[in-house]
Formats: sequence, structure tokens, C-alpha cells
Amino acid sequence: MAILDERKEIYEEIKKEILNCQACELWQYRKNAVPGEGNLFATLMFVGEAPGEQEDLQGRPFVGQAGKLLDSLIGSLGLSRKEVFITNVVKCRPPGNRDPLPAEILACNPFLVGQIGLICPKIICTLGRHALHTLVDPTRTISQVHGSRIAKDGIVFFPTFHPAAALYHDSMHQLLVEDFQILRRLLKEI
Ligand code: SF4
Repeated sequence: MAILDERKEIYEEIKKEILNCQACELWQYRKNAVPGEGNLFATLMFVGEAPGEQEDLQGRPFVGQAGKLLDSLIGSLGLSRKEVFITNVVKCRPPGNRDPLPAEILACNPFLVGQIGLICPKIICTLGRHALHTLVDPTRTISQVHGSRIAKDGIVFFPTFHPAAALYHDSMHQLLVEDFQILRRLLKEI
């Protein structure tokens, strides 16, 4: 079997498990689970926090206002959405857009680990504190580490702010844009 077909097949299995998952209470609130989408051979993966209202309605990640900002930031890297892979720490929308609970993040983690293991990105850009704390270091804040590269388990992690937070804070928006300029340079090196 060709590598592409094999990878697609495994990914479809992960996706099916997510769509049917009831491992934490969030399944009760979802209209659609949001597994993620993009290039299964992506060099660059983005990991956000959780689906919001629009994502829950459409079953796709980052499709609201924050998604538009992320699309434009991906464009600033000279890439399109189809060339990267985008997902979240939890795959179902927390009610009222509250933060995902530690137990929910833990329950959903095998899916994220499976996606990373399958796609093997060279760089994972974590968006916001939940992705930073889940994948990189629970003791650091975004303000401390944003825009820096952190090597772990053979992957380069690049933490930055969540685009949704940057929508409401001009200073954070500017830092996010600057971080993506650093990320663009990092992509050329790797
Ligand atoms: Fe399952 Fe994750 Fe959805 Fe919880 S958030 S029900 S663990 S897919």
C-alpha cells in the first residue's frame, strides 16, 4: 500500500474514533466533533485550544473570526491552509466557550498524540496556553516563551498566542504577527 493511502487510512480511523468518542462529558454538548484538517504530510502543525461556536457548527477547526486571522497569518508564512495541519487540544466544544478542564484535556490527549505521531510535523506551533501546557511545559506562560523554539521529543515547538485572544488586544495582535515573522525564518532553516 502506498504511504499516502496508508496514512489516510490510519487518519480516517482516528477521525472516526473522535466523531464517536464519549470519553469525556463534552460529547454531550457538541453538534459536531472537530478532529482537525489539513495536509497529512505537513511540516508545520498548529494546535489550538478547543472548537468554538462556528467550529462546532461546521465540524472544522478555526473557521470563525480567529480562523480568518490564522488564515492570514499562515499566508504571511507563504503557505496556505491546505499545506499545514490544524487541530486543537480538545476536539469538542466546551459549553459557553469555557476553558477545557484538565480531565477533558487528559481524556482527549490520545487523539492529539495519535495525530502528531501519524503526521510527524517538524514544527508544532502551539496557539495559546492550553496547547503550550499540554504539549510543551505546564509551568511556563505564553508571555515567557512566545516566539521561541523549544526542542522536545524530536519536534521543534513554537509557542505563540491564540488568535482569538489577539482579536481583542492590539498589543497581542502585534506580538502574534512578529512571532509569525520568526516562524517564517524558522521554517526556512528546518
Ligand atoms: Fe472525546 Fe475529546 Fe470529545 Fe472529550 S473532547 S468527547 S475526549 S473527542
